[in-house]
Amino acid sequence: MSITLADARVVTPGGVHEGWLTVEDGRITHVGRGPAPGPGHSLAGRYVVPGFVDIHCHGGAGGSFPNGDQDEAHRIADLHARHGTTTLMASLVTASLDDLTRATSALADLCEDGLLAGVHFEGPYISSARCGAHDPALLRDPSPGELAGLLAAGRGHVRMLTIAAELPGALDTIREAAGSGVIAALGHSDATYEQTLAGIDAGASVATHLYNAMPPLHHRKPGPIAALLGDERVTVELINDGVHLHPAMTRLAYDVAGPARTALITDAMAAAGMGDGSYRLGPMKVEVTGGVARLAEGGSIAGSTLTMDVAFRRAVQEAGLSMTEAAEVTALTPARVLGLDDRLGSVSVGRQADLVVLTGDLEVAGVMRRGRWITEPR
Ligand SMILES: [Zn+2]
Repeated sequence: MSITLADARVVTPGGVHEGWLTVEDGRITHVGRGPAPGPGHSLAGRYVVPGFVDIHCHGGAGGSFPNGDQDEAHRIADLHARHGTTTLMASLVTASLDDLTRATSALADLCEDGLLAGVHFEGPYISSARCGAHDPALLRDPSPGELAGLLAAGRGHVRMLTIAAELPGALDTIREAAGSGVIAALGHSDATYEQTLAGIDAGASVATHLYNAMPPLHHRKPGPIAALLGDERVTVELINDGVHLHPAMTRLAYDVAGPARTALITDAMAAAGMGDGSYRLGPMKVEVTGGVARLAEGGSIAGSTLTMDVAFRRAVQEAGLSMTEAAEVTALTPARVLGLDDRLGSVSVGRQADLVVLTGDLEVAGVMRRGRWITEPR
């Protein structure tokens, strides 16, 4: 089956072109400028951007990946797909090894089905001083042998591990992860600048929500932020919801790391797509008020209610990124983190037909995943 989308503003890595594109058998087969050569579905001047790639997401639609429930996981993926996310990582929070193993095994099935892009362990190998919404009683020192057991439960689908570089055993565990094809991400960490660099030297390549859950920048103690922002080997995650970060710090990251090393994430929890109220994130109780999720006890920010379409829109309208740069930080760069950028993450010939149609106000008008409409634009 072939679908031609005409009268579009096509956002490609090389810029925004007025033109058309054709999708066949789930792939983009042509991208052209000007009027389409044959009949097509007119988008009436709306934008086509690559489907969003969210590499850090805990839930939505009332569901939570840490519960390891497959029906909930389907609800979460559906919600985020309607907001333009066509590639989604399931992020788990700190839990007992038994609970992590059980959830990982259940979610690995959904990775095999193509619903999810992988499983991310945000804990338990993180700092008690910077554990945010993770249960401090369940934190552990990293151990390569223990990690190998958790990875086995994921049958090759555990794709990312967040780890605090300063913990005993961390550097060996980072080496074990990176050597097993698991992306090692530094975060929830109280590390110094030097300890963070040692983590990067050991193979870490991502910063888990840069700025949040780590010591702030200080001119005599630069800490993890300066190391992670400054190192060409690292891609930095940002939660661009207007709550987790001051816009000036978002801008600083864009300016230093650039779109090629910046990945917007949602870090969304169960309340995304839902109203305010009481929720859980793993074992922790969370209260959501005015769309802001905080631990019921202590008040730490506990994930977000963000969706990637809002992150995209904020990147353009609040931070002043171009459409091409916004597509890079929401699709191409996170796809590169996952090693999938040769298959998806840009509107280019040969890539998977994962597309989002956006209005001039950057509201979602349509979403296509692997050549099929999830929401068809009218
Ligand atoms: Zn998270």
